[in-house]
Amino acid sequence: MFQFLFYNTLKKEYNWFNPIRLGKVSLYTCGPTVYNYAHIGNLRTYMFEDVLKRGLEFFGYQVCHVLNITDVGHLESNHDFGDDKLVLAAKKEKRKVFEVATYYENKFFEDLRSLNILLPNIKSKATDHINLMIELISALIRAGYAYENSGNVYFRVSTFKRYFDLIGNQFDIDKAFNRIDIDTLKKDNRDFVLWFSNSKYPNQLMKWKSPWGIGFPGWHIECSAMALFYLGRKLDIHCGGIDHIMVHHTNEIAQSESILQHQWANIWMHGDFLTHENNKMAKSMNNFFTLKDLEKEGFKSEHFRFLCISVHYRHRLNFSFQALLGAKSSYEKLLSIAKSLNSNNDKKIDLVKNSFSSNMIKMYLKQLQNAILFDLDTPKMINVLWEVLKSSLCRYEKKRILKLCDKILGLNLFNEQFLTLSQKEKIEKRQNARIEKKWELADELRKELQKERVFLRDTVQGTQWYIN
Ligand SMILES: [Zn+2]
Repeated sequence: MFQFLFYNTLKKEYNWFNPIRLGKVSLYTCGPTVYNYAHIGNLRTYMFEDVLKRGLEFFGYQVCHVLNITDVGHLESNHDFGDDKLVLAAKKEKRKVFEVATYYENKFFEDLRSLNILLPNIKSKATDHINLMIELISALIRAGYAYENSGNVYFRVSTFKRYFDLIGNQFDIDKAFNRIDIDTLKKDNRDFVLWFSNSKYPNQLMKWKSPWGIGFPGWHIECSAMALFYLGRKLDIHCGGIDHIMVHHTNEIAQSESILQHQWANIWMHGDFLTHENNKMAKSMNNFFTLKDLEKEGFKSEHFRFLCISVHYRHRLNFSFQALLGAKSSYEKLLSIAKSLNSNNDKKIDLVKNSFSSNMIKMYLKQLQNAILFDLDTPKMINVLWEVLKSSLCRYEKKRILKLCDKILGLNLFNEQFLTLSQKEKIEKRQNARIEKKWELADELRKELQKERVFLRDTVQGTQWYIN
């Protein structure tokens, strides 16, 4: 019997994973606010969640994964003050807010595909679910957990006894609330906003009708509303970056559990920061790199993926190009081994019936399984993999083990062809051109790709590519 042991932020301990429904996992992961490119710190979190999902699927679980897209401009900070991110971006780029959101949403999914991150079963846009949020806010008011004041609605934190369970540390709590601006409409400084009608932002462009006036929802209510709608009253796993613990996830729990009257998510998992020169990488600090920045320096997405999985998701990853160079060299070495294992002679070896029977193989498989089952220890997996590849096992056995591991690590080791980010972009652009019947543009892009030896084939399932 294979059972995962995950570090549960809520309980501050390792918990055995027992799904609510046999063989099925409901997984909610907080998605991006689409007002800028995702930086590699954001992408590290999505990669940890991808390894989690791949690991669960590897051991036979059927995962239903929901990821939200925050296309309502929530505020500059995690708190209830600051400027609206999307409005700022639209002003800067002289575009409409919805255009900005769509553009960066597309870019976000391109990054995910480029990093070989499995896409969610449901991607849920905040702007498509405003009614759900209004219903949830109304229910919270009716039950006495929220109040309206001059068009704004606030969650009354004093009504929720377990409010600090996820944070769990008094020092952090003080730090969280000391930073909050005074909002005179709040009855208690700790209360947080569910709906803004009385907006501090006269130029707010995205507004909806609500019982409390024309306005827009707070950020936290978005995740509670969509997670409850798509995944039901009890959630197996909720994930995000550790920066979400203090405010966003704490508030999500308060909202959801006040309505449900029971513990909402069984396991809360959080990925640690990616730092650069010991500072957290953040758009607000303008110290971030995107995947494209890495490509400009001669790196592929796979190199960055390898760097991320070489460090445990709950450890800080201090990013440097030096470290990325190391990851590149290890990845390329692994890739060349995979290629040599995959060579033509292999067919002959395939005929040898080998069912992982030797003790050495059993030992390695056990080590690899234990590594992933014990809180997704990917660095340990990689170490064991190197040992496997150096061992006296035959090529066939090594290849089978490497292929099995790659299902979880997602390094794409047995697909020898890779596209650059700009080639991937051209293919997508061409697909869009075809949908919009811009045949000339589509043709032009096909020719450009051909010059780069990338050939396309349009099939019923979509466009396939190959490099020759
Ligand atoms: Zn969220």
